[in-house]
Amino acid sequence: MNRDPRYDILFEPVKIGPVTAKNRFYQVPHCTGLGWLRPRMLAALRGVKAEGGWGVVCTEYCSIHPASDDLPYPSASLWDDTDIRANALMCDAVHEHGALAGAELWYGGSRTANLLTREVPMDVDSMPNTNGDPYQTRAMDKVDIRALRKWHRDAALRAKAAGFDIVYVYATHGYLLSHFLSAETNTRTDEYGGSLENRVRLVREIIEDTRAAVGDTCAVAVRFSAEEGGGGDGVPVYAERREMFAMLAELPDLWDINIADYSLEMGVSRFVKESALEPYMSFVKSMTTKPVVTVGRFTSPDTMAAQVRRGITDFIGAARPSIADPFLPKKIEEGRPEDIRECIGCNVCYSGDGQSVPIRCTQNPTMGEEWRRGWHPEMIQAKGSDSKVLVVGAGPAGLEAARALGQRGYAVMLAEAGRELGGRVTLESRLPGLAEWARVRDHRVQQIERMADVEIYRESELGAEDVLAVGAAHVVIATGATWRRDGFGRFHPSGIDDFGPAERIFTPDDIMAGRLPEGRVVLFDDDHYYMGAVIAERLHAGGLPVTLVTPESKVAAWGVYTVEQIRSQRRLLELGVAIVTAHALISFDGGEAVLACAYTGREQRIAADAVVMVTARRPDDGLYRALQGRVDSLRRIGDCDAPALIAAAVYAGHRYARELDAPPQDFARVPHDRVFDETP
Ligand code: ADP
Ligand code: SF4
Repeated sequence: MNRDPRYDILFEPVKIGPVTAKNRFYQVPHCTGLGWLRPRMLAALRGVKAEGGWGVVCTEYCSIHPASDDLPYPSASLWDDTDIRANALMCDAVHEHGALAGAELWYGGSRTANLLTREVPMDVDSMPNTNGDPYQTRAMDKVDIRALRKWHRDAALRAKAAGFDIVYVYATHGYLLSHFLSAETNTRTDEYGGSLENRVRLVREIIEDTRAAVGDTCAVAVRFSAEEGGGGDGVPVYAERREMFAMLAELPDLWDINIADYSLEMGVSRFVKESALEPYMSFVKSMTTKPVVTVGRFTSPDTMAAQVRRGITDFIGAARPSIADPFLPKKIEEGRPEDIRECIGCNVCYSGDGQSVPIRCTQNPTMGEEWRRGWHPEMIQAKGSDSKVLVVGAGPAGLEAARALGQRGYAVMLAEAGRELGGRVTLESRLPGLAEWARVRDHRVQQIERMADVEIYRESELGAEDVLAVGAAHVVIATGATWRRDGFGRFHPSGIDDFGPAERIFTPDDIMAGRLPEGRVVLFDDDHYYMGAVIAERLHAGGLPVTLVTPESKVAAWGVYTVEQIRSQRRLLELGVAIVTAHALISFDGGEAVLACAYTGREQRIAADAVVMVTARRPDDGLYRALQGRVDSLRRIGDCDAPALIAAAVYAGHRYARELDAPPQDFARVPHDRVFDETP
């Protein structure tokens, strides 16, 4: 198939200083939870992006010196020759497919406490560590500034030696250089502080140093914030930014443009939709002749082409869309954009970095597993036998199992109790802001519908005898889980004894089924991810006065890893939902709820006509249990095995499909990407 000529513009080569990108698809720097700790996993991940057609593929933030060490968050690094070899793995993998490799050189400043190296971190002033660690930076003197410039130059030379084509000067996201630029943080009285010209001096010098060091063969890119923030969503506050930009506009070979509010730039789809940066950065191209890249969780080729045509950007920057679908460019190029696995904007990928573990993606179960398990996002081994497989349950686990089994060539029967497919993602996608969750279902259903050997049976609730009557050689149970109404969870490991009238106790399943309580509602959130906050918003939209109670010190506490915690809490506060933190619901009698302080146990009573329990889920594994010992090949996957993230259910479905008629991949046998410290 040929691509739609409307998208030709996306495949034009673009010159970036001394190098040329083959097209406009640009994987901007994004963290992976791999960094210098897991170089082979990283190289394979970046290589797959290049294979999928991205014209530029960058590293994550790449430390220039041990005095910028972000552990426990694993950055990339270019400290020495060992690092050159580790990064060369990535460059080679990217070059193999004709893409350019970019290195985002980084010095953290007050963001890093240097917990690994115990070097004293430096910044424009002696500032408290912005990650919350009890450390302050040393205020840089002239000797320090000279040292920093040398470290940056040396790292640029190492980047070139590793094979990178683009070398970044990273002047945003609250790291050192952004503090020099800012009038708020830069209160120096020497030639690096005070006037705008002085504050821009260090960035200018480092751009010039980088060009002098590697500019003959490498392009110099600058990551820069187009505005200062504080204006609310969609309302840019430029302050000095345009002036600052004008002073530097022609110096680098490429501008990589961000904005001040990371929770908007990297916003979850609940709060932020496609192309949200445009109102902030649309002025940039009018002020420079150099190519510009920006992001916007672009998944629609029409939007992408329009962005270029309208002169907003030269490159379609992407982190998440390239994670959810490394083959996004190829699919557009091959005239099959409907095959794109669109990012759902859940930010589970980002949680890997915050938790110091390898990246995982809800939509793309192969992300991060390219080297470790040898999984490819588009290819899968052919079936190992002609046996038939029965998949019970069409939630994310069952759908992905059926899709991937179908791709392998198996004859699959997918039975779903309900009329609708999608299980939890269909139900959750109707909650406030979660519409994009449905993409998990839509992509898989759309692929399955084309597969002659995968049959879907709706409204087919199967019992054990039904399953046996089908006579499939392999049976996989993906029947999901049900939210518990007995209080069982982290706070109450054996549930709540003194619990009032059953008809006044609700769960997210009730709310999603449209069964809403009446009167004053207390929502007990002992789950700590998005569900409690989203259900509270849904109840509020239904006109109910809601009090959200959580034993945590903040709403949706796990949402810090997905950059949604602050927005979740802000949203509820703005709506007028009452919030009681550090308390647990301990009893309810139909008219009053008793809360206990998580620290002292001190009790308080609040009037409540109903409670909604968001605590834990019970696996719906009755069918599995009833079949145990009666089917030779029987497995349970996803929430019916162990309730968890949607990403875990998709992964379980994918893994089942990969491992059918193949030796199971015992984790102990999965290669462990240990530190790359071999002599050449
Ligand atoms: P997961 O996240 O593990 O995929 P979900 O809860 O999203 O789980 O989906 C489970 C699906 O299984 C639901 O759509 C549900 O209707 C379906 N299901 C549950 N029990 C049966 C059954 N006995 N027969 C067929 N489908 C079932
Ligand atoms: Fe998108 Fe979620 Fe995948 Fe991240 S984890 S790329 S946000 S679908």
